[in-house]
Amino acid sequence: MLLTGALPGCLSTSGQSGARKSSEVAVTNSTMSVPEGYGRLLQDNPIILSGNVNLDGTADLSRYLKTTPDFITYNNSLMESCLGSGNQGNIESCYEVRKDRNTSLPLTAVSKRWAFPVTTSEFAQVNAFGHIKKYLDRYHNLIRDIYTTKAVPNNAPPFNFYETAIPRALYSTTAQWYGGQSLVTYADCDLPGNANFNPSDFTLCFGSIPEFANVKMAQDPSVMHHELGHALSQMMMNFRNIAGGIVDRSNISYTFYDEAGAIQEGVADYYAYAMNGRSRFGEWGLIRFGNAGRPNDENDSMHAPGISRNVEERLRYPDYLSYDSTDPTATIEDVHYAGQIASHFLTAFTRDLQESCAMSFTQATDTVLYLLTETYAELGDLTSSASDHSAGVGLSEPTINHRSDLDASGIKISKEWLMKVTPINYRSFFQKFAKYAYQILNKNFSTRCNGTNYPLDNLEKLLDSYGLLLFKTYNENGNNYTNGNSGTNKTVTAANRLKSVLISKNLIKLDPATDSSPFFVFDKRTDLIAAIASLQARGNITQISSQIPAQLDYNNGNGEISPGEVVGIALNLYNDSNSTMAGVEVLANDWDHIKDDAGVPKPCNTFEDAWPLSTEGAAPADPVASSFGQCQYVTRMNGTAGGAAQSEPGEYLHPVCFVQVKDGGTTKWATQDALRISQNGDPNKCLGGTGNRKDCYFRAIRGADFAWYSKINPKMSWGKSVPDETGSPNFNSNNILLFEASPDIPPGTVFDCRFRVRFTNCTECFTKQSDVNGDDWLDFEYSGPQPFKIIHFQFTVID
Ligand SMILES: [Zn+2]
Repeated sequence: MLLTGALPGCLSTSGQSGARKSSEVAVTNSTMSVPEGYGRLLQDNPIILSGNVNLDGTADLSRYLKTTPDFITYNNSLMESCLGSGNQGNIESCYEVRKDRNTSLPLTAVSKRWAFPVTTSEFAQVNAFGHIKKYLDRYHNLIRDIYTTKAVPNNAPPFNFYETAIPRALYSTTAQWYGGQSLVTYADCDLPGNANFNPSDFTLCFGSIPEFANVKMAQDPSVMHHELGHALSQMMMNFRNIAGGIVDRSNISYTFYDEAGAIQEGVADYYAYAMNGRSRFGEWGLIRFGNAGRPNDENDSMHAPGISRNVEERLRYPDYLSYDSTDPTATIEDVHYAGQIASHFLTAFTRDLQESCAMSFTQATDTVLYLLTETYAELGDLTSSASDHSAGVGLSEPTINHRSDLDASGIKISKEWLMKVTPINYRSFFQKFAKYAYQILNKNFSTRCNGTNYPLDNLEKLLDSYGLLLFKTYNENGNNYTNGNSGTNKTVTAANRLKSVLISKNLIKLDPATDSSPFFVFDKRTDLIAAIASLQARGNITQISSQIPAQLDYNNGNGEISPGEVVGIALNLYNDSNSTMAGVEVLANDWDHIKDDAGVPKPCNTFEDAWPLSTEGAAPADPVASSFGQCQYVTRMNGTAGGAAQSEPGEYLHPVCFVQVKDGGTTKWATQDALRISQNGDPNKCLGGTGNRKDCYFRAIRGADFAWYSKINPKMSWGKSVPDETGSPNFNSNNILLFEASPDIPPGTVFDCRFRVRFTNCTECFTKQSDVNGDDWLDFEYSGPQPFKIIHFQFTVID
């Protein structure tokens, strides 16, 4: 079984050679051909400028320069300041461009001028700077306009128009620009055929095509706009975190494949579209020299037959999650393909604003960027408040990402919710986007549809045509544990849901085929070392147990779980419905599924899995189900206040894995500490040390305790739905959960891990079926069993 664990680049491409030459007149771009502060830019990518889709990789690009110079900067180096709002938020060193990662300073001017021959690295740097500057001027104007005239967070309700997620302190804390951090672009960096945004050091990197030394990503503005889009989304997601003075940062995605990352790729493609209005991006940097580059509109000729703007023929979720327009039969689990559903929806919505509101292209794209700004600002909010002044909800009441306080490990609960427990997916993202579209363009007789009221049916029908009308309400009342079901909450018109398919959670299960294994175990040493390194590089994993040797010496690669190993586990999930399931997530994090029985935690058997039997060690029945400490009571504090003197006595989280212990003549399911006690084991040798005895022997690695699967076809397993060329599943780091097994596990020990599974287009996983208003589950309920299907993973440790 192949397991790959690399960090992805942003775009991928392979080389191929080209055709004919064009005949424009070359323009000499020499220092003395321009005034001080000036240089020359390629106004667009060479394919667009030449009108030749087969333009050769050796073509003389100076033919596509204008004779009129472009203003670059009067600064002596390739860097720029940014203006805040009023007298707040000015940033001296806002962005700069260097050659590559080995260059410590931005490019300097020659005789105060910026004109260099087109084949030089200096030209690529100036070209990148010029195009980034144009986009950032638009970004700063847009955010300033949102802050001062559209959202106006400084106004208290009812004088502001709606509950904006834009924080009051946006400019006083320079949150509009990531706390004032300089965005560094490497315009000629060592990244063959690719480009990326790296959130950990806030850099952009533009590579070149290996076969053609003169073809650089920095010659294609749409590629640069895409990567810059990632950086701007990262900023938006952290508006409220930086303004709220917290050090944690939200990321635009958390694994190699998750839906947050997929949507983000679509949004980044939209950033390019918002600048050039074209139906595809990357014509020169990507499409010309390989298979990458993507359309964003069903009308584009890149698309396979049968795809069009017709309501029946759009890129619908989840059918098109692995769709590659250049190879429609391929099934690849990749965020770039999966994101096309988002980009196509966003361009279709833009056209609707142009038609329904008679907006210009710029007005319509500015409006969509405004809605995206609000959406990301709320979704990324680790302070959990969602707005500085949510009406009906107290100022400090959390309404998103559960709570901002710390769990027992010192990690913000809100970060856990954003990363894995209630992560961004196609449902949550477009529900939030729709909420802002409703509140800004439609609610309270709004005239922001260019002087008229935007018809909400348009939005619902459009979302539905993309399979994205997966929610029943706009969730205006948020997810707070006391107020989340009580405020105003606009309902979706049910008749508009014709193509968006919801499936019962009961139809996801382990593959029932008798000849298939219910799960896959990965224990090859080199694979696991690579997987851990990849997750550490992302910042997901911060600690491996000191009981596990760093070089994974116990890992024997026999496909079984042995003492002392780090193992990867993938459930062999099966879709027993007649529709495609998508955005499947398996959670192995701690949750509220035990009851304290006179000092001994015991597994609750009151959930849908009815496990274990009372005779097999289950907790005693609940005398008062709705009271603290009982199985049927779900903690509102994620188990952080379970002490006797605290607000939720008896409410604790527990790790997923229990173990079989002999108790007299019978065997019972018990905690791992019960096994340790029966073995007289040293608590200091527990995987997490003496303070963490509940998962003394076998525990999920924090940050690798959630797994994603893009989609599972009807009546099929995931492995068969997304096969590689050889027909077998190609596991990536996002598909597996990582566990540590203590060297001290007695061979023959039987474990049972109680995972929670859900998917995006699930009937019961987000909407409370018992609620007549179709309200969403509240954030605290994700500490418990109800929004999930419980799936057990049972195994015996083999020496
Ligand atoms: Zn990207």
